[in-house]
Amino acid sequence: MASSFPSVSELEATARRVYGQVFGEEPPQVAVCAPGRVNLIGEHTDYNQGFVLPMALPLVTVVVGSQTSGPDVTVVTATEDADEPRRVDFSLPSDGAPLSPGLPRWANYVKGVIQHYKAPPLPAFRAVVASSVPLGGGLSSSASLEVAFYTFLQQLKPDDGDKVSKALSCQQAEHTHAGVPCGIMDQFVSVLGSEGHALLIDCRSLEATPVPLTDPGLVILITNSNVRHSLTGSEYPTRRRQCEEASSVLGKDSLRDATIRDLEEAKGRLADVVYRRALHVVEEIQRTVKAAEALQKGAYKEFGKLMVESHNSLRDLYEVSCRELDELVSAAMEVEGVFGSRMTGGGFGGCTVTLLQAHAIDKTILHIQERYGGTPTFYVTTPSAGARVLTMS
Ligand code: ADP
Ligand code: MG
Repeated sequence: MASSFPSVSELEATARRVYGQVFGEEPPQVAVCAPGRVNLIGEHTDYNQGFVLPMALPLVTVVVGSQTSGPDVTVVTATEDADEPRRVDFSLPSDGAPLSPGLPRWANYVKGVIQHYKAPPLPAFRAVVASSVPLGGGLSSSASLEVAFYTFLQQLKPDDGDKVSKALSCQQAEHTHAGVPCGIMDQFVSVLGSEGHALLIDCRSLEATPVPLTDPGLVILITNSNVRHSLTGSEYPTRRRQCEEASSVLGKDSLRDATIRDLEEAKGRLADVVYRRALHVVEEIQRTVKAAEALQKGAYKEFGKLMVESHNSLRDLYEVSCRELDELVSAAMEVEGVFGSRMTGGGFGGCTVTLLQAHAIDKTILHIQERYGGTPTFYVTTPSAGARVLTMS
């Protein structure tokens, strides 16, 4: 059956309890949260200035905490999957000196967000993090941690409140402190997501358009393969380089500006593998725009077809799928009432996302369980709100 996950208020209660255990009686003054995300379509397009269509999840990271006097910051994560120690103490740099990344790795996301916060200097504080987003599962626990933490800092010392620059600061944090050269999708939707809507993001103009997704007859099922192949680290930068090579041969700023025709004309000048990577990106950008239109019209069959095309392209042209993800998608597509299914996130493991009729949810989960070799985790989700303040006292 589908995995049940704690509600936002249950998570907040957990974070408050841990806060009490670590810091004593006085309750935290601030509680905030920011969601993880699932990308419905538009994979490996964000760093090519293309379109993506994610939605914010009911899986969130909560941060509770209070301002303190003195220079010292203490942050504790209640998440057992984070690397140890789960408590870090450090001083805020007083003279604008950099807050260097180090160990434990999880604290680098926090340090990065402090470093890139738009309204320094910050007061000292203590905080506890709790999350229902699985770590490293492709649902962007990292962005939800960054955005939740940024939202927490905004309550201690407000910045200008600009949401786009908030997302960009969080992305910077991931670049400089976690060493992950990610695109802007994850942080963007974690900040700007809204309940009952997917978000069409133009990664070139940074314009975000909410697309309604509230049909009660529909369900979005996330299936975590619970595998992660070690390739992930090296393959991502390789794909980025191949895309840059293709756009440079085509004489374009990015593959966003390329058409299929441009690609066909330049085929002889592109290495075959570079051509195939670029073909995926150019077609995927077009598919994402079409998919947003289909969703807008309630054309779910069309949307589902585009999801499957996206998966096949990621498998055959971009080569970032794996046996487990292919199996999960094939199994889902065998069930009546399923519109479409695809791998989601960077690939080589992680999750699939499936769009289906609500009445088919139980038989779909059962069928995938029977057909899939491993032990998947299922999340039945709806499009949820972006980062928000839960309590302020
Ligand atoms: P994803 O974003 O897909 O979950 P990443 O590898 O990008 O995977 O980010 C996962 C990392 O983010 C974890 O290994 C951990 O360092 C950090 N992280 C995310 N959420 C938390 C949390 N609640 N507590 C501590 N660390 C977290
Ligand atoms: Mg991440």
